[in-house]
Amino acid sequence: MQSPDESSTSNTALSRRAFIGAGSAALATAAISTSALAQQAQDTDGAEHDHSSSNPGPVNSTLFGINPNTNTPPPTDHGDIGPIWYSFDLARKRVEEGGWTHQVTQRELPPSADIAGVNMRLTAGSFRELHWHTANEWAIMEYGSARVTVMNPDGTMFIDDVGEGDLWFFPAGYPHSIQGLGPDGCQFLLVFDEGGFSEDGTFLISEFMAHVPPEILKKNMRLSSSDIAKLPKNELYIFPSELPKSLSADRSVIGGGKVAAQQQYTFRMGSMEPAFKGAGGEVRIVDSTNFPVNSSIASALVRIKPGGIRELHWHPNASEWQFWLKGHGRMTIVMPEGRARTMDFAANDVGFVPAVAGHYIENTGETDLVFLEMFKAPRFVDVSLNNWIGRMPPEMASAHLHLDAAALKKIPTEKQPIIAG
Ligand code: MN
Ligand code: MN
Repeated sequence: MQSPDESSTSNTALSRRAFIGAGSAALATAAISTSALAQQAQDTDGAEHDHSSSNPGPVNSTLFGINPNTNTPPPTDHGDIGPIWYSFDLARKRVEEGGWTHQVTQRELPPSADIAGVNMRLTAGSFRELHWHTANEWAIMEYGSARVTVMNPDGTMFIDDVGEGDLWFFPAGYPHSIQGLGPDGCQFLLVFDEGGFSEDGTFLISEFMAHVPPEILKKNMRLSSSDIAKLPKNELYIFPSELPKSLSADRSVIGGGKVAAQQQYTFRMGSMEPAFKGAGGEVRIVDSTNFPVNSSIASALVRIKPGGIRELHWHPNASEWQFWLKGHGRMTIVMPEGRARTMDFAANDVGFVPAVAGHYIENTGETDLVFLEMFKAPRFVDVSLNNWIGRMPPEMASAHLHLDAAALKKIPTEKQPIIAG
């Protein structure tokens, strides 16, 4: 526990104007003023909520209620770092018979040049039409189960069933399919390693065949004119169908082991052992080191208990694209020139952290916070601020932080991805 004169509690006593504008002498004066301490006592969330931030004008009380830090950030925020938040609950759904899709791409979140996300629902038996695309595809099942297939260029075929918490990875250009299974189909998040990707811009088997002259289809596929007349004239995209045979029956009917892919394109992330487990939560990491076909998209599935934080850290190799699966939290990102932004996030939101920018995530809710950290990178890598300070000669740390040896000893020296509240 902190004593009242330590750490952030003295900063929260400062007025916003004093913090942003003043030098250290003024800060010290402000920190001990009785009015500031009285304000602090009323101020349980660390933000300044005195009359200066009152808002007599109109308010969208629903949005305001779930975004207190976004609307009235802590006084440590400063300047502009660009957009870092969007929500799938603001993204237009394309609803078809058999399911729906919607996306959060660079068009919705312009700084996200590396990654775009798509959320998709397929009812039982329904297909996402056979297709391929320019980006690599990573996916996690959020609900239900699906059958996925992908063919290697050498003609070997991968077929598997996936359930909640399972991943798949399909390389760019490799043709693949997704079909919802019983009893209620599935929902999943797709992550592409191109920020400008669009789920409406995929290469479809129906369109390839509909836009080739019929005489070419006759030569290429030995089809008759009446066969060709039956082919779909327009894209199918998402459409209802019958449930497939069993997994083993589907595998054997195409040729069994002789045509089976040697690579494993699915991964059981939800049931894997955590890479980190502590009192504050746990982290599961999947990248090219434990899922070799996944050459380009690293991921961490993070669970934080109420009050806990994902420690102060940054990633040396990529920007971070987040999908929030459960719970509530807030994140602050700190950039050069003292720029900093804090925002609130909830389930179904997308967060973005510019490359190598320092950040933390705090669980501000009453339940576990679960979110994904996604990177366009072959490896998951993070740098812990605590770890770095702990590895310095104490004189070096003291010269920079103005802390004495006793204070420095309080800082954990080892990386703890999650610190309990
Ligand atoms: Mn795809
Ligand atoms: Mn991070």
